[in-house]
Amino acid sequence: MPLSVKRSALWSWRALLPWAIGVVPLVFGLVVMNWQIERELRASSQATTRQVVEQVERILDNLAQAAQALLPLAGRPCEEAQLALRGEVTRNAFVRSTNLFQHDTLYCTSLFGDFDEPVDASDYTDGTLWLMDGNSVTPGHALLVYRTSSGDRGAISTADGDHLVTALRLIAPDEDLQLRVGNAWMGSDGVVHHGQPPAYPVADVTLGSTRYPFSVHGGFTAAKPGELLRSHYPALLSLLLLLGVVAGVVCRWQIRRANSPRAELRRALEADEFLPYFQPVVRKGDYRWAGAEVLMRWNHPHEGLVRPDLFIPYAEHSGQIVEMTRALMLHTAQSLAPYAALLEDGFHIGVNITADHCRDLALINDCQTFLQHFPPGRVRLTLELTERKLIEATPATLELFEKLHEMGVMIALDDFGTGQSSLNYLRQFKVDYLKIDQSFVAMIGSDALSQHILDSVIELSGKLGLGIVAEGVETETQRDYLARHDVDYQQGYLFARPMPAAEFLQALATRPGVARLPQDAPPEIMRG
Ligand code: C2E
Ligand code: CA
Ligand code: CA
Repeated sequence: MPLSVKRSALWSWRALLPWAIGVVPLVFGLVVMNWQIERELRASSQATTRQVVEQVERILDNLAQAAQALLPLAGRPCEEAQLALRGEVTRNAFVRSTNLFQHDTLYCTSLFGDFDEPVDASDYTDGTLWLMDGNSVTPGHALLVYRTSSGDRGAISTADGDHLVTALRLIAPDEDLQLRVGNAWMGSDGVVHHGQPPAYPVADVTLGSTRYPFSVHGGFTAAKPGELLRSHYPALLSLLLLLGVVAGVVCRWQIRRANSPRAELRRALEADEFLPYFQPVVRKGDYRWAGAEVLMRWNHPHEGLVRPDLFIPYAEHSGQIVEMTRALMLHTAQSLAPYAALLEDGFHIGVNITADHCRDLALINDCQTFLQHFPPGRVRLTLELTERKLIEATPATLELFEKLHEMGVMIALDDFGTGQSSLNYLRQFKVDYLKIDQSFVAMIGSDALSQHILDSVIELSGKLGLGIVAEGVETETQRDYLARHDVDYQQGYLFARPMPAAEFLQALATRPGVARLPQDAPPEIMRG
């Protein structure tokens, strides 16, 4: 029910909320799944680093065993020890070479026999372990070196970097792992680096060995949780998406229901937002106010005063117009009754009634309640029925109009000339007045054919003994033309626009020839 042209802010809020609600289950589900995945990744990272630590310890156990076995030979001539050096290489699966040193010089190796190369204890973490990025035999190829000593003599055993790479790659193929010894570290590509290793964004775990000076570092890239989410939870994701859509649709439906014209009109009715406005009807000759038409206005909390043609069609469609008219009649009676002295006897009060209101005898009660507010004969209630929507002549409706007639309630056929009522219709429903539609009045002085219709209507009403009201009178030319053709009543902006009750009463009070004011008239009326 568009009540005005601009509704942007409210609309955007209404349009966005279902989307926001729809996204909630998805976001909530994603947060929970992400948390779950991170927990799983951390557990997996802890398990794999432990396994790698154990595997590297196994390799080092081999190296330590070989070096310890050879330590007693350190300082002895190389040709004497060489066979034992080679024997340890053969016996220990992970040992690639064994060596003896004395006085910081490596003097015997399993590969070459006699040798001469300096040995620096400070290269070794805790004097025990060195992660080398290659030696003279295999430059650029990682090597893990174990050193043990007794005084200035000692034994050294080495393991090939490939054993380490195998441990790092095979234990957890989809996890990033590093082996760290001192300030050297090696990833699963087998390349040895020096300095601070990169931290892993997800499930970063570091586990040190309790037996050797090294640690293993594991974790995952930032993209890993997303990959797992897509590959492990497609069904759950689809379910969340579906839940989101359902939540969004339900929310949209609820908003629409809460803001439906029906709900909005019900709210307005309960908040008493429908007000009567009054437009005077003047009589021929002296143009004094002979009555007024009650026109409904909606005093909307956001939209201000709303015109009836913007909401009456919805009220008619939903059937709420009957209740609204009842409330309007009550409002009108309560506003006018305290100042009934301002009204001349037989003052016409015209109320617009829809066909639906004429279905049963409830309308009789409504009219009685209205009239009971006034001294007998003070007002003449006129029900205006539009010719656009004719009433069906059933026994019930005919009885209703008979009773209305007996009560002295008048019937005016509104918008006359725009519909298809017959003479029989006018008679059956005991029509007292014809209200000539303003479109015909607007043609006065311009369109010959319309003017001819207007003349015929005036003539017809005279012959049928019906009163005639011309509405929409805006110019003096129209006023004078209608006066010349003996039209009984006129209504239009030329005389007065529809106005609120207080203004209407104030205007009534200040008109010349008006009856005395009641003692309890409100100050705004007295001032006027
Ligand atoms: P209507 O019953 O034909 O009422 C006359 C309309 O013409 C009113 O419009 C009035 O303000 C307007 N009018 C009066 N004099 C002039 C004039 O000189 N020039 C022009 N251009 N217009 C003039 P309003 O108040 O906007 O009402 C429009 C329609 O809404 C009414 O037409 C009536 O059909 C309906 N309506 C108003 N109140 C009620 C109500 O309480 N119940 C029902 N069922 N319908 C109502
Ligand atoms: Ca009317
Ligand atoms: Ca009308």
